[in-house]
Amino acid sequence: MKILKFGGTSVGSAQSIKTLLNILKDEVKQSAADKPVVVLSAMSGVTNLLIAMAEEAAKGNDFAAQLAELEKRHFDTVKTLLEIRDQNPALTRLKINFNHLEELLQGILTLRELTQKTRDLVISYGERCSTLMISKIAAQYFPSVFVDASEVIKTDSTFGQAKVNTELTEQLICGLYHENKDQILFVTGFIGSNDSGQITTLGRGGSDYTAAIFGAALNASEIQIWTDVNGMMTADPRMVKKAFSLSELTYTEAMELSYFGAKVIYPPTMIPAFLKKIPIVIKNTFEPEFVGTVIQHDCKPSNLAIKGISSINNISILNVEGSGMVGKSGFSGRLFSLLAREQINVILITQSSSEHSITFAVQPGDTERARQVIEHEFELELLAKKLEHVEIEKDLAILAVVGENMKETPGVSGKLFHSLGRNGVNVRAIAQGSSEYNISVIISSTDLAKALNAVHDAFFVQLTKTLHAFCLGTGNIGKTLFRQLNGHAAFLQENNGIQVKIAGISNTRKMAFNADGISLDNWEETLDQAPDQADLPAFIAKMKSMNLPNCVFIDNTASPVPTAFYEQVLKSTISIVTCNKIGNSGPYQQYKTFRDSARQHGVDFFYETNVGAGLPIIRTLKDLMNSGDRVQKIEAILSGTISFLFNNFKGDANFHDTVKLAQEKGYTEPDPRDDLRGTDFMRKMLILARDAGYALETSDVSIESMLPQACLDAASVDDFYKSLIAEDAHFANLKNKAESEGKVLRYIGKLENGKASITLEMVDESHPFYMLSGSDNIISFTTDRYKERPLVIKGPGAGAEVTAAGVFADLINVGAN
Ligand code: ADP
Ligand code: ASP
Ligand code: MG
Repeated sequence: MKILKFGGTSVGSAQSIKTLLNILKDEVKQSAADKPVVVLSAMSGVTNLLIAMAEEAAKGNDFAAQLAELEKRHFDTVKTLLEIRDQNPALTRLKINFNHLEELLQGILTLRELTQKTRDLVISYGERCSTLMISKIAAQYFPSVFVDASEVIKTDSTFGQAKVNTELTEQLICGLYHENKDQILFVTGFIGSNDSGQITTLGRGGSDYTAAIFGAALNASEIQIWTDVNGMMTADPRMVKKAFSLSELTYTEAMELSYFGAKVIYPPTMIPAFLKKIPIVIKNTFEPEFVGTVIQHDCKPSNLAIKGISSINNISILNVEGSGMVGKSGFSGRLFSLLAREQINVILITQSSSEHSITFAVQPGDTERARQVIEHEFELELLAKKLEHVEIEKDLAILAVVGENMKETPGVSGKLFHSLGRNGVNVRAIAQGSSEYNISVIISSTDLAKALNAVHDAFFVQLTKTLHAFCLGTGNIGKTLFRQLNGHAAFLQENNGIQVKIAGISNTRKMAFNADGISLDNWEETLDQAPDQADLPAFIAKMKSMNLPNCVFIDNTASPVPTAFYEQVLKSTISIVTCNKIGNSGPYQQYKTFRDSARQHGVDFFYETNVGAGLPIIRTLKDLMNSGDRVQKIEAILSGTISFLFNNFKGDANFHDTVKLAQEKGYTEPDPRDDLRGTDFMRKMLILARDAGYALETSDVSIESMLPQACLDAASVDDFYKSLIAEDAHFANLKNKAESEGKVLRYIGKLENGKASITLEMVDESHPFYMLSGSDNIISFTTDRYKERPLVIKGPGAGAEVTAAGVFADLINVGAN
């Protein structure tokens, strides 16, 4: 025999009640001899509405409109689902209920008083009306009987959270069941009554508990909880989109998860089921074929370290501190008995190792009262200054990771704190129960959504990890990156388990945001039509306030402006990927600050494309250094523009035409002198030198100009081109000299003995840089380990395609951590 409990949404509309009846028909067909018992909740939203009406009435406010609406909702459902000739008895009985409810609310209004006892009576009408109604509707198909559970579930008088007298209740349930053997019982969830027959309730969400009480009393083979999700999931699916259904859980795990907020099942439900070893199956009314989640004694071994993550939003913590008191035996006993006596529910307790303070969490509504009772109880200790005044912290949340496997799996808390830390979530207090089935942390409420998603990503690695990127700059590189990301999204998700959502884009005109990701099919339109004008400080502020997990700031500009914000971005625990060299080649102190901030806040600062575009130069240097190698010498050609020039400045070519050609092909800056002066090259050498461990400044890099002074002094780009013609002899000389000696011209950067320089050289065939085509870059590292033959990296070192690819690779590396 089974118990089938249907929750608020499952009885919330005519449509869902039809589905419920179909589920029931199937069950009755399958086990005809063994009729199920049905337990029902109030229609969704009704309990909350009843509470609101009672509270309003107590303030003297009218409730007539809401009551009429409530009545109409039930009446309409009856009219939809019952034949006209059968409607009258159902409507009459419902009407009697609503009349009682009205009298009751009127009484509250007159007295302006709402006791816990009256409140329980008011809210009992939710379950009484829904169950009565459904039993009448079901009577069309089965012999059905309405059961007001307050007649059989006997409790104490703790209104709102009544304790069940199990023995008596079980007797009464068995009696009732046997008297009605041939009928299906439709039982009101949630309610009971005390010795004097006054209505009590079992706590919010308590209909699940009613089902378990009936299940235990009748030795049911199974307790089914029908709700609106696919069973118990790894996290609340409203908060964590990637949450998935669990096939099984132990009673302890279900208890811990639900105690810490997994609302899908009410925690006390597990106790009667556990004692009688009755499996609880959580199923989805709206997807009845889905197998759901089984809660039972023994589960198959799983390789997941945790089963799920749950949370309670909006709690307060109280901190009791005092050197003279805390830690003395008996103190915490006295404190917590006091709170129990006052019926203040303590959700979580932590004690610092110094034993100078005890911190505990309570519902916000209990905070002030808890403080008052403690300060009253310990008045003498306060006066004697053995105890400080109780401190309160509000707007907090608890996040708990739960699973029996945690006991055997080392590193669970490490992983939890790593993912919280990387996302800038500050942990106020930690509690690990002695059972080791649960680690709970207290964090700020505003961080909860981010923390849940980040922790979920960290533990359920078989799932896709989502990176939230905020991108600055929509020039060549930015555009190309978006195209590459768009084209590669499916592959990334499948092979690397990484999903990139572009949560923000800004260029110098506009900015747009979307936490769910701006579509890369039409980002240009989205940005054009976005209401917000570009505003970098506002962009950064918005990025921070969106508080998304696994956040990355991507700077695809060449402007000095964004670099001023790097430090604060890193400090807000957001990683940075940048192709912009200006930040790293500014003052050494700034370069160092970026690195230190990233390290301190546990985030990444990646800039592979600062040198040699997508070529793996920075990474290689970092790997060499990290593995204990030491750089003796670096030689490099890192200007694609100049390589192109020298590779084409030969034979009959003159220098002027060669520069023109380079410009036409898009290899130079608008003013070619920006390349020819060597400034860009200098920046790259400076960054390399710094990464190799030398604290150099811009002025420490000596640059031999390849241009005569007259060319450098030209007033405009036009004048500059004229000066190239005027100075033609200078360039022709260089070329002829090189060619006559069988050499080629190369502009080479060098780092040796901590000194960085860029010089114009003529190299012969024997030199590794002799053979260099197009706009290629080349770099050779001579190190303690690569001494005989240096380590050489060569390839295209400029262009939007390869640079964007480098930015892309950096982004994925952020995701890998
Ligand atoms: P019912 O009215 O059927 O009793 P509840 O609203 O009490 O349903 O509980 C179901 C809801 O619990 C789901 O809609 C879901 O949003 C929420 N929930 C919270 N945590 C979890 C979780 N870990 N797994 C599944 N659902 C959860
Ligand atoms: N109707 C009650 C509530 O909303 C009990 C339940 O649905 O389980 O809390
Ligand atoms: Mg519920």
